Order: sequence, then structure tokens, then C-alpha cells
Amino acid sequence: MGRKLLTEHINVEGINTFDVYRKHGGYRSVEKALKTMTPDEVTEEVKKSGLRGRGGAGFPAGMKWGFLAKPEGVPRYLVCNADESEPGTFKDRQLMTKLPHLLIEGMITGSYALGARTSYIYIRGELLYVLRILEKAIAEAYAAGFLGENILGSGYSLDLHVHPGGGAYICGEETALLESLEGKRGNPRNKPPFPAVQGLYARPTVVNNVETIAAVPIIVNEGGDEYAKIGVGKSTGTKLISACGHLNKPGIYEIELGLPVEEFIYSDEYCGGIWKGRDLKAVVAGGSSVPILPKELILKTAAGENRLMTYESLSDGGFVTGTMLGSGGFIAMDETTCIVKNTWNFSRFYHHESCGQCSPCREGTGWMEKVLHRLEHGHGSMHDIDLLVSVAKQIEGNTICPLGEAAAWPVAAAVRHFRHEFEWHVTSPKEATVPGAAYRGAAV
Ligand code: NAD
Ligand code: SF4
Repeated sequence: MGRKLLTEHINVEGINTFDVYRKHGGYRSVEKALKTMTPDEVTEEVKKSGLRGRGGAGFPAGMKWGFLAKPEGVPRYLVCNADESEPGTFKDRQLMTKLPHLLIEGMITGSYALGARTSYIYIRGELLYVLRILEKAIAEAYAAGFLGENILGSGYSLDLHVHPGGGAYICGEETALLESLEGKRGNPRNKPPFPAVQGLYARPTVVNNVETIAAVPIIVNEGGDEYAKIGVGKSTGTKLISACGHLNKPGIYEIELGLPVEEFIYSDEYCGGIWKGRDLKAVVAGGSSVPILPKELILKTAAGENRLMTYESLSDGGFVTGTMLGSGGFIAMDETTCIVKNTWNFSRFYHHESCGQCSPCREGTGWMEKVLHRLEHGHGSMHDIDLLVSVAKQIEGNTICPLGEAAAWPVAAAVRHFRHEFEWHVTSPKEATVPGAAYRGAAV
């Protein structure tokens, strides 16, 4: 049984209220940090913990905090990215709904470490009911003296606001989020400068995901070294995984990083295997922005090693940069799934959500959607398959923000691993014109 750090008390009756949360050890990290530690000491513990960004990129959180510019007399901000919108990802919503005070505690301790006096939680517009939960919890924290002027008599003061987005996926990209928070259209900015130097209102800003900030109280209470003992190599601690698709037990699981993927899919402690006694065909392990992997490659790496739920093990051998653990949106597809239809579906999403600033993304996502629609509906040609790869390549590296690559890589990976299925949609038009008809052969 893996350790539960974030979700230990998640099922306690009333844990969303200040009193019950406090009875279960809540807000200890604020007391410890404000009364016995300097801000730099808190940052040092986060560095030692090896905690990596849980939003998807896996960037070391302590290092990001260390990058924060600290010119005297200039305000700086901590902004929580709660704009969870990645298809397949629904873990932050659960954390905020059930444990709002854990996030607030992390925001206070984190803001203290960074020297922020005003901080924000930017929440996805569709989650207005969660915004209400957070607002209520924030009011409780103010009433108990954990927010506002001179917190616990320490001399440190903090105001915390929740701000809803308007429902655009792109506002989860950190610089688009900051634009939106400033009241402008949520268009991503060029980086550098990174937000750590020039963020909200052009001031130094750290943007962290909900789950990242929620891990801070645990790290401060237990110590960074203790936290780092969990996991494998540079993938330390626990991670929330939202598992969906063709699984016997879809849901949200807190796992210790390093768990074998096979155990996660098939053991009764987690997903309990593939539904209806069917075989697994493919998995998107970290939300729709990461490439798809066929069964053979999700269970074992190309070198034949067991694939682990870590940032390093879930990589695609250099085919894409970054990790496929992503945001932890684990989508399992059984043997009846049509990969072409699935790829077309994701592609529609990215075309719809592209902000339109860069031509390769604006035009390329549209082209990919059109070509995939043709193939899925039995009107495609062999040339179309190569055209998809060519368009994906022209997007890669040529856009302002990662949405372009998030749209391109999954298409290129689907063709790479399931080319035979795309070809079957061309050569068997009669069956393939039934949208969703799936090739039943093995992946290569
Ligand atoms: P990124 O790799 O560009 O940046 C990661 C973080 O590190 C950013 O905060 C960035 O500012 C910081 N950083 C990197 N280099 C830095 C430097 N030199 N100095 C200071 N700061 C630096 O990735 P990203 O745009 O933050 O995230 C992309 C990922 O987001 C995708 O891989 C995808 O998995 C994920 N995603 C998640 C969701 C969701 O709903 N959770 C939605 C869409 C995408
Ligand atoms: Fe907008 Fe796409 Fe360019 Fe990102 S890559 S800035 S979403 S057009």
C-alpha cells in the first residue's frame, strides 16, 4: 500500500471546514514556517524535497522559487494555476473541493517563502462551485488569523484572492493566465522573460499548480529530506493520477512515484485492469498533450525495462522532449478503440482552443483536424498520412507556447505507432467509413 501524503484525510467528514482540518494537523506548516523559519529556509526545504511541478512540465519547484527576482521594494506574487483543463486530468478539482484548506495552507507557507504579500488562485471558469468552496475556506482562514494583517503575530501579512477564468483552455498556460488575471485577453507571452523575472503586472511571479502548492505543507512539516525518500531518482514524493477510459476502476489515485505502470493498471489497489475482460490497446499517460503509447511500450520501455510512473521512465526515447507523466491524466484505451478517431477528436480540441497568435499552430491545428476527419470518414489517401506528420513537424518548435507541440506530438506519435491503422482507414474505405471502426491488428 503506497503512502498517502496529500489525501490522507480526504475522506474525513467535514475536512473541508477549518475546524476539522485544524484538528487533523492543518496549518501546522504556517505556524512552523512563520515562527521558526526564515523564508529562505522554507525554500531550501522545497529544494531538498526534489518536488517537481505537478501541472505537467515537471520543472523543479524549488529551483523555480530560487529563480524569483527579489529587487527591494518591488511587489512579487505567488499565483496558483487552478485552471485544470487538460483532457483526462481532473485531480486538482478533487483536491480543491475536498481539501480547500490544504491548498490555502500551501499558499500561505509558499507566499511567506517567496515574500509575496498578495497572492492569487486562478481557477477554471467552469468550476464556479469550487470557487465558492475556496472563498468560504479563505474567509474561515481570515477569521482564524491565518490570512490578513500580521498573521499569528509574526509581522507577516498576506491577502489571498480567487479569480475565475472564462473557460479558455489556453489560460492554463502560465503567461496567458497572467494576461487574463490582468484583465486582458488570455494570449500567451513570449518567454523569456519568464514569470519569475517579469510576471503578473510585470513583477516577479511564481506560478505553481494546485497539487504542487498542496505538497508544500507536507514538505515543511516533514522536512525536504524525508519527502525525497519517497520515489525513484529525480521523481520524488507522491503524485495524484486521474485515471479514466476503459478501466475497471477509473478514479483519482495518489501513488508513490516509481510505481510500475503495469501494477497501476492491473492491480486491485489501483485501476483493477481493463474493463469487460478486454485487452489494452494504448495509453495516454499524462493528459492529451503527451504522445500516445501502444500497450507494448507503456508496460515496458524500448530497452525492455519495466515502465515506471516517473518523469524519467515515462519518456519516449527522445521522440519528444519532456516527460509523458505530464499532468497525471491517465487515459486507457481498450482493443476496440479507433486510434484515428481518437486522434481526430484530440485534434479538434486543439484547433478549437488555439489562441491563433502563431500561424503554425492556428493553421496547422486546422489542417490536422481536416486531414484526420477525411481519414476517419474513409475519404483519405496514403499521402494524407505523411501530410499529417509533415504538418506536425512544421508546428514543432515554431510557436510561442507549448499548445502547438501539444497538438502536434500526439498526432505524430499516433502515426508513428499505429500507421497500419491509418493505412487501413485508406485501404478499407467500406468499413472505415463507419466512424470509429477500428483496426484490430497489433501495434508495431
Ligand atoms: P515549461 O517547461 O515551458 O515551463 C515549466 C515551468 O518552469 C514554467 O513555470 C516556467 O516559467 C519555468 N521555467 C522554465 N525555465 C525557466 C527559466 N530558465 N527561468 C525561470 N523559470 C523557468 O512548461 P509549461 O508551459 O509550464 O507547461 C507545459 C505542460 O503543461 C505540458 O507539458 C502539459 O503536460 C501541461 N499541461 C497541463 C494542463 C493541466 O490542465 N494541468 C493543461 C495543459 C498543459
Ligand atoms: Fe496561441 Fe497556439 Fe501560438 Fe500558443 S502556440 S500562442 S495557442 S497560436
